[in-house]
Order: sequence, then structure tokens, then C-alpha cells
Amino acid sequence: MPNAYTLVDHTYDCVVVGAGGSGLRAAVGLVEAGLKVACITKVYPTRSHTVAAQGGINAALGNIKEDDWRYHMFDTVKGSDWLGDQDAIEYMTKNAPRAVYELEHYGVPFSRTEDGRIYQRAFGGQSIRYGEEQAYRTCAAADRTGHALLHTLFQQALKNRVEFYHEYFALDLLMDDEGACRGVVALCLEDGTIHRFRAHVTVLATGGYGRVYHSCTSAHTCTGDGNAMVLRAGLPLQDMEFVQFHPTGIYGVGVLITEGARGEGGYLTNSEGERFMERYAPKAKDLASRDVVSRAIMVEIMEGRGCGPNKDHVLLHLEHLPAELIHQRLPGIAETARIFAGVDITKEPIPVVPTCHYNMGGIPTNWRTEVVCPRDGDPDAVVPGLMAVGEAACTSVHGANRLGGNSLIDLVVFGRAAALHAAERIRPGMPHPELRRDAGEEAIARIERLRQARGSLTVGQVRTEMQKTMQHYANVFRNGPTLEEGCRRLAEVAKSLEDLRLEDRGLVWNTDLVEALELENLMLQAVATIHSALYRTESRGAHAREDYPERDDENWLVHTLVWVDPDFSVRFERRPVHLYTLTNEVEPFPPQKRVY
Ligand SMILES: Cc1cc2nc3c(=O)[nH]c(=O)nc-3n(C[C@H](O)[C@H](O)[C@H](O)COP(=O)(O)OP(=O)(O)OC[C@H]3O[C@@H](n4cnc5c(N)ncnc54)[C@H](O)[C@@H]3O)c2cc1C
Repeated sequence: MPNAYTLVDHTYDCVVVGAGGSGLRAAVGLVEAGLKVACITKVYPTRSHTVAAQGGINAALGNIKEDDWRYHMFDTVKGSDWLGDQDAIEYMTKNAPRAVYELEHYGVPFSRTEDGRIYQRAFGGQSIRYGEEQAYRTCAAADRTGHALLHTLFQQALKNRVEFYHEYFALDLLMDDEGACRGVVALCLEDGTIHRFRAHVTVLATGGYGRVYHSCTSAHTCTGDGNAMVLRAGLPLQDMEFVQFHPTGIYGVGVLITEGARGEGGYLTNSEGERFMERYAPKAKDLASRDVVSRAIMVEIMEGRGCGPNKDHVLLHLEHLPAELIHQRLPGIAETARIFAGVDITKEPIPVVPTCHYNMGGIPTNWRTEVVCPRDGDPDAVVPGLMAVGEAACTSVHGANRLGGNSLIDLVVFGRAAALHAAERIRPGMPHPELRRDAGEEAIARIERLRQARGSLTVGQVRTEMQKTMQHYANVFRNGPTLEEGCRRLAEVAKSLEDLRLEDRGLVWNTDLVEALELENLMLQAVATIHSALYRTESRGAHAREDYPERDDENWLVHTLVWVDPDFSVRFERRPVHLYTLTNEVEPFPPQKRVY
């Protein structure tokens, strides 16, 4: 081990990596179970991307109109285009109401109905009585639901004395020779020291990797570091071809306008002033599932009915809504549209275009949030000591397409589940096995290599190339030949990582180093995503292949598992989808044609 690095060892019962909604909920539950918990986070907890969630969180409370968790389950299965694991979806939708009441009791200031109950709005892809009528299921704190949720959970974490390691960047998992996870190694950004956290259970809650695309709604921190740590540990990621493009990112800047805007009565038009969604989804119209609306917008643009001088976007109208409603229910959107599009939404429409928003794929887990990796013929074999929650995980409750409002509920339901199941398996203060002597050495070697990087390309240059390649070749619509070209191009960009330069200011700052580490992490996932997209020769949910326009249940009603080696070579396996439920309170929903 190089002498220049001060090595600090810590011992905990559990370590949670990430302090977004999922990580904080897990950490709170683990402390409540009497366990000693460290929560490591590269940014201050309240800066996690969860803070940006706008529209709301789904639970079948039935406060506006009748509802039932089974309707929520059906919508989620249908929204997933049947790729979601139905045992996990059952668990999430059934536990959603108590999770929302728990948040209410923790202190989330939900918007209210006239008679004081939690307000619920209409969102895309949601129905009552199995597709019959639009549902009102999305609980909201105006259009700042994530902000309210994250701050409340952070306060609970402080109250429960979760031990935070703010601005520590997790580098790698500490795996033992038997393939079990024993903790993580992290870099302290303040002083550059290296810390090894030993733990019986490590919970990855590191969020999505939206930043592999050039235009995305997610924060600069959404680089999927946990996903990359899993790949480096020789474990696979699942369903990486499924990337959600949100229909309404502000044109040119990628900032999100919540689906709640359409839920409150907003609608889309093309250059002819036509409400085109009526043609694509006669029943649900502007509130069809996100993948459906995004494809419709792209078709309008490709067929020449886009708006503006370049005919490359469509318009979202809210100006017909009462100003009072906008002020009360969509204040953040009004502000965002003014700042980023120069639009007064009470007077003019907002120019919008589909923008990368969410990663359905990630670290494969079961409904208990334990990470799985096929072994000895068992497709669901558990990786001891490792759990994953939130957007980093592929549990898989969102399958091929996530419904709006279903991520926030995923965070809190499965954050809690992680704590419950970890607490079943470990006791406070259990002794730890010895770490391997070289534990963490590879991560340190990586840092060392980057600090010495004196090539000709900046991190920003390589990152932009990667993002543009993904944007061009792995967008809303995909096609075999262009995906192959994209894979080739991306391999070149990945190769150019060897030519990085980290010397701009005569000194390698930890922030520069972190951007380089994040770029390496992003690249692994870009490769996983584009190769998985080429591998899956069908169209399902958010994955739309022009050369394979139909869903193919016979060959592809399976999860894709992808391994990416350090040299960026890939390997695939398939894993069965769970088409069964956990209890007999509901029958599984067999695959159907998906229309809205
Ligand atoms: C603009 C926007 C609006 C959205 N609106 C909604 C909505 O209305 N409803 C809904 O259901 N969903 C919404 N979503 C999706 C949802 O907000 C996210 O999927 C969810 O918040 C992700 O939460 P998370 O806990 O998985 O991770 P995040 O909130 O992204 O947090 C990740 C955490 O991991 C930490 N971390 C990452 N890497 C490292 C590392 N290497 N070392 C240490 N720490 C690390 C970070 O510091 C951070 O604390 C929205 C998403 C966006 C981008």
C-alpha cells in the first residue's frame, strides 16, 4: 500500500452508502433496530437528487376517488410492460399506504383536501378498476414533494443519531474470497484520507446514472457509483437497456416539468396546434404512460410536426388553468419555466422535449432488497452482506417503464424493507471476520493512477463525448445498425480514458479526482446500457427498437443481466421474471397487450 495514503478503519454493524430518500429511510430503520450504522454520502444529504422530485408519491389511499392497492399493482405491472417482478410489486403497492402515513407522522407537510386529508392528484398510467377510469393516487406536497420528503427523513436520521460521513466518496466494495460483501472503502474529500468501513450488511443507495446522457433531468451527482462498484466486484447489473425519457423536459436545458402539470389539466400540442395524444392513447390521452407519450412526441417531431424554427420540440399548455390553481399546486413549475424557458405559464405554453429521467435498470435484488447473482443454477442466489435500494436497485418493481410517483414510494417501502431484513439477520455488535490484508488496495491504485494522469484530454471532454454518443445512439428510438455503430463509437470514447489529464491547476484537487472517478463509473454504465439495448431484440416499455417493433414474450419476457469487465468487454445472461405473487391476496397479472 503506498505510504502517501493515511488509512483509517471503522467497524459498524451496517453501512449505508447514500443519503437520498432510500438511504435515509434504510438508515433510520437500521438504527431503530438497535444497530450501529454509518451513512456515507458524497454530497450533504439534503443535496441528494431526491430533493428535486416534484410531482409526488403513489399510494392507494382513495382520498379523492375510490382506490385499492390491487389497482395500483395492476397499473404498475402494466406500466412495467410485464417485465416487473410481481412479488416485489405486490409488496410495494400493499405497503404503500402505511409508508405514506408513516411519512405523514414523521412530518412531511403534504398538501391537503378541503376536509384535511392528504391531497392526491392524477398521474400517468394510473387507473381504478383495472384500466377503467383515471385514478387519483399521487400524494403531493405541492410540486416539491421530494424536498419535503428528504428534509423530513434527514431530520428523522438526525433524531435517531445515524452516524453520517458527509462528503466521503465510496470507491469500492470490500469483497471476501467467498464472494460476500464485508463493507466499503471510501475517500474523505476534505483531506484525502482513505477509510475502510467494515460492516455485516452494506446497503447501496447511490441513486441513478442519468448523467450518461447529454440531456437529462437528474443532478450532476447522478453517476451511478454504486452500480459501477457492483460491476467492479464482478457482479452483474440488470435491465440496463431500460432508460426512461420523461416527455416534458424543458427544451434546450433538460430541466423537468412534472407530469403533475398534465395531472392538473395540462396538455401537449404539435406545430399544427393539434392535441396529438388523442391519436396515440384515445383513453388516457396526455396521461398515458411516459414511454408512450415520449414516443408519440418523437414521432410528431420526426414526421415534421415539431414546433419552433427547427421543428424539434412540442408545447405543454397550462395557460388555460386558473392562476390560483397554478399558484397552489404548481408553484415550483411556474418558477422553473420562468427561469429556464423565459415563459409565464399563466400566459404561454412551455417548449418541451423527451429527456433522460430515470434508470429502471440497476443492481438486481429480490423483494427483501438482497442483491442477487445467479450461482450453481439458482438464478436468485443471494450475495451475502450486500443490499441495494432506490434508483440504484433493480428490484424490479418498474420493469421496462416506471410510472410517475412510483420511485418515491419505492424508496421508502424498500428502504424500510432493507432495515427489517438486515435486522433479522444480524445482531448488534456481532464480531467481524478479519478483512483481507489487501482490502481496498485496488481502489487506492485507481486513485493513484488518476492522480498521475498526464494525458491530453480533460474529464469534461471525454464526458461530453460519452454523453453525446449515448444521446445520439441510445435515445427514445433505437435501431440495430445504429446501436452497433454506437457500441463502436463508445468503445473508442472508453479507450480515450487512458489519455486523461488531471493537472489543470498544477495540483490535483479532490474535486477533480472525484469527477474522474465518476466518469469512469459512468463509462461502465454507458457501455452496459448501449450493449444491453443491442442485445434485446424486441420493443418493450421504454426500450423501442425500430427493427423489432413488437414485444416478444416468447423470447424476451426475461431480465437481462450484464457483466462489464475493466476492459469494457461485456457478457450477458438472462434471469426469469417473477410472474407470481407473495400471498394469495391477489392473483398474478398475466401478460396482455398494453394500450392506454
Ligand atoms: C427532477 C426529478 C424529479 C423527479 N420527480 C419524481 C416524483 O415526483 N415522483 C417520483 O416518484 N420520482 C421522481 N423522480 C425520481 C426520484 O426522485 C429518484 O429516482 C429518487 O429520488 C432517487 O432516490 P435515491 O435514494 O435512490 O438516490 P438519490 O436521491 O439520487 O441519492 C443518492 C445518494 O447517494 C450518494 N452517493 C452516490 N454516489 C456515492 C458515492 N460514490 N459515495 C458516497 N455517496 C454516494 C449521494 O450523495 C446521495 O446521497 C424524480 C427525479 C428527478 C431527477
